Amino acid sequence: MCRAKSAKFFLASTSEVYGDPHVHPQDETYWGHVNPVGPRSCYDEAKRFAEAMTMAYHRFHGVETRIVRIFNTYGPRMRLNDGRALPNFVYQALARQPLTVYGDGQQTRSFCYVSDLVEGIYRLMQSGEHLPVNIGNPQEITILEFAGRIRAHFPDAPPIVFKPLPQDDPKRRCPDISKAKRLLNWEPKVGLEEGLGLTLDYFKKQYAAAAK
Ligand code: UDP
Repeated sequence: MCRAKSAKFFLASTSEVYGDPHVHPQDETYWGHVNPVGPRSCYDEAKRFAEAMTMAYHRFHGVETRIVRIFNTYGPRMRLNDGRALPNFVYQALARQPLTVYGDGQQTRSFCYVSDLVEGIYRLMQSGEHLPVNIGNPQEITILEFAGRIRAHFPDAPPIVFKPLPQDDPKRRCPDISKAKRLLNWEPKVGLEEGLGLTLDYFKKQYAAAAK
């Protein structure tokens, strides 16, 4: 359709293309370390294939394409039951259930507030870059510490319990955002404490309204 209408094509790709990375932090030149037959592989390989198709359309048909590699993002209006770490921890804290940390919680992620992501995507669309660009917040944190930060926002905080680590769970993930800084003059503005405050305010209000 973009080819027929001479429209710009935008692909929302993911840090999952880096798999369980052997390079840290991950920059866009890293080809990744993905298990092609593991439980995450349908998602990871589908995104990798989507990048390949996007580049093929760009090269062969001259379609104007943009590829953003989105790292873990959070903010108001996430679904509390989507199974990811932040919604799980927030729901558990609100429902006074133990917070379930998988493995020993020493795996890391880097969480980007949603408005920063949107600004990064907008700038990428205005740029002329067709190769992938990482958009994420390089403030890296262990999942155990992340659970603790969320827990600290609740007066009767439930305990943290440890559950088995899912297969192929990436051990470390942190974006190298040099390219976005250089090309888009972009970097995240909202730190984790501020972003968590805004997100938790939203979820506390939602939860209270649902309980009425
Ligand atoms: N995680 C956890 N408890 C949960 C949900 C997730 O400890 O209730 C861990 C998960 O194993 C992973 C990290 O938190 O190491 C981030 O998981 P998420 O699904 O949010 O994102 P992704 O793994 O896709 O980066």
